[in-house]
Amino acid sequence: MNLTDAANLSHSDWKQRAAALKTSAQTRLFIGGEFVDAADGGTFENICPVDGSVMNTCAAGKKADIDKAVAIAKASFKSGEWSRMAPRERMAIMYRWADLISENGAELALMDTVDMGKPISDMVGVDIPMCIETVQYFAECIDKMTGSITTTEYDVMSTVLREPIGVVGCIAPWNYPLLMALWKISPSLAAGNSTILKPAEQSPLSCYRVAELFVEAGGPPGALQVVNGMGEEAGQALARHMDVSKISFTGSTEVGKLMHVYSGESNMKKVSLECGGKGPQIFCEDLEGELLDRAVETAINGIFFNMGQVCSAGSRLIVHSKIHDVFVEKFIAMGKDAYTCGDPLDPAVNLGPLVDHESQARVLRMVETAVSEGGQLEFGGTAAAGDLQEGAYVVPTMITGVNDNDTIAQLEAFGPVVAVIKVDSDDEAIEIANNSIYGLQGSVWTDNYRKAMRYVREIECGTFLVNSFEEGDMTQPFGGYKQSGNAKDKCFDSLLSYTNTKAVWFRLN
Ligand code: NAD
Repeated sequence: MNLTDAANLSHSDWKQRAAALKTSAQTRLFIGGEFVDAADGGTFENICPVDGSVMNTCAAGKKADIDKAVAIAKASFKSGEWSRMAPRERMAIMYRWADLISENGAELALMDTVDMGKPISDMVGVDIPMCIETVQYFAECIDKMTGSITTTEYDVMSTVLREPIGVVGCIAPWNYPLLMALWKISPSLAAGNSTILKPAEQSPLSCYRVAELFVEAGGPPGALQVVNGMGEEAGQALARHMDVSKISFTGSTEVGKLMHVYSGESNMKKVSLECGGKGPQIFCEDLEGELLDRAVETAINGIFFNMGQVCSAGSRLIVHSKIHDVFVEKFIAMGKDAYTCGDPLDPAVNLGPLVDHESQARVLRMVETAVSEGGQLEFGGTAAAGDLQEGAYVVPTMITGVNDNDTIAQLEAFGPVVAVIKVDSDDEAIEIANNSIYGLQGSVWTDNYRKAMRYVREIECGTFLVNSFEEGDMTQPFGGYKQSGNAKDKCFDSLLSYTNTKAVWFRLN
C-alpha cells in the first residue's frame, strides 16, 4: 500500500497489520538475493518497545556470514554487473527502486514503527517520503559525476577518473532505521559499489524489505546484501574485513571511534563517520512577539520529535537572561502537553516509547543526575504510567538552571529531555555552545542579522540555522565537526565520497 492510502488507515487497521507482520516479515539474512539462516543457526529475539513483547526471532549474523556476503559482493563487483553498468541503466533501476519503496510505503513505515516505536504518522508523513527522495536524488546524480582534465604539458593528456571503490560496508543506527540506512546505501550503490548493510539489531525489518525491493527493481543480488547481527560480531567483522574498501558508519561517537581502530588493524579501509550531537540552540535578548513564539515552538519540536532520539536534536537551549523567564514560561505553556505518549500505531499519537527499556532506564538516570547536580525539573522526568507502563516510554522533560559543564549539558541523552542554560552575553553563549565534544547542528534566534552572522561564523558545527531548526533538503550536506563525525551524508559530495579518483597520464608524443 502506498503512502496516500496509508494516511487514511485507522488505529485498528494498523494494529491488524502489525499483528500480521509478526509472521510475514523477513527476519533472516539477505545474502546473494536469498533470505538465509545464519551459518551457525544463531538467532535473537526482536523486542517491540511498545510493550516489551517479542515481535519475532531474527537471524544473528556473525563473521562467517559477513565473509560469505563479502565474497559474493567482491565477485559481483569484479563481474561488472553493477559497477560497470551504463550509468543511465543503473539510474533506471534506482528510480524503479524508489517507485517500489513508494508503492510499499505503508509496509515499510509499519516495520520501523513496530521495531523502534516511532509514531506511524511520522513514518508515513516524514521518514518514508524522505527515503523515496533519497533514492531518487542519488539516482539523479549518477551521470552528473564527472572527472577532469588537468592543465599540463602540451604532449600530455592528464585526466582524473572517478571509479567506484569496491565492496562498501554500511553500518546503520536504529533512530531512523530505513532513512539512515538509505543515506548510506543509496550513494554507495549510485556510485557502483557492491554494498553490504549491517542494520541496527533493534530495527532490521525495513532494511531487509528494502533490499528485497532493490532486487525486484532489477538490481543484481550481489550489489546489495543485508547482514543483521550484533554490533560486536557482524558489525565488527564487516569493519575489519580485508576485502571491504570503505566502511560508512552512523551511530554513537564511542563506536564510531572503533571504526578507525578496525580499519587501522585491517586494511586501512576508508572510514566515514556520522556520530552523536548535543545541539545548541541560542535565543538572543532581542526576541519578542511572533519570532519568540516561533522560536519556542520550534525548540519544542526540535527536542521532542522522535522522542528526542535525533543526533541533531536541539537538546541544549542557551537563553539570554533578559528573555529567560518569559522563554521558559512559554516553553512550559506550549510544550508540556504538545507531545503525549501513546501507542505509536495510533495515527493521532506523536510520542512513542524509546527504542528499548535500557534506553528508558539510561534517560531516567540522566534526569536524576541533572537534578542532583542542581538542575530544576520543570516538567516530566518519569516513565509513562497506566496502560503504557510496560512500554519504554519517557514523558517530555524540561530541566532549567543547568550549567554548561553539568552531565546533562555534555552527554547525549538521546531522549525527550531538554536542558536550559541561562547566559548574560553573546560571548558567553558562544563559549558555552562550543564547550562540547560534539559539533553536529546548532542555531541562533535573533532579529539582528549582524549578530546572526557572528554566530554563523563562531559556532563549531556542520549545520547551522538562523531562525530555524531541523530544516534542509537533499542538496545540503549533513554531518558534523569535532567528534560528531568526519563525513557528509545527503548532498552531491556524499556521492563522491563513495568513489576513488584515479589520475591517468597519457604521454602522447
Ligand atoms: P550505536 O553506536 O550503538 O550503534 C550503531 C550501529 O553500530 C549499530 O548497527 C550497531 O549494531 C553497530 N555497532 C555497535 N557496536 C559495534 C562494534 N563494536 N563494531 C561494529 N559495529 C558496532 O548507536 P545507536 O544507539 O544505534 O544510534 C544512536 C547514535 O547514533 C546516537 O549517538 C546518534 O547521535 C547517532 N546518530 C548519528 C547520526 C548522524 O548523522 N550524525 C544520525 C543518526 C544517529
